Amino acid sequence: MPHPVIVPEDCVACGACVDACPCDVLELGDACAEVVNPENCIACGACLEACPTGAITEIVDD
Ligand code: SF4
Ligand code: SF4
Repeated sequence: MPHPVIVPEDCVACGACVDACPCDVLELGDACAEVVNPENCIACGACLEACPTGAITEIVDD
């Protein structure tokens, strides 16, 4: 199933990806966004486009 790849070191926990995702795939953890519902991901790329730091590098399907 598709899901975004988040590089924790580059994430500033701003929440933009959580807000941008139409499918509630992401949640904000203490220091980084986390993929909590990968089964919901439709690989739309909205989270990747919304991230201001480039912490979401790609949407993979595995
Ligand atoms: S690719 Fe789309 S559906 Fe998947 S986590 Fe990102 S915003 Fe959500
Ligand atoms: S938009 Fe980018 S920096 Fe902001 S919480 Fe999501 S992954 Fe982290």
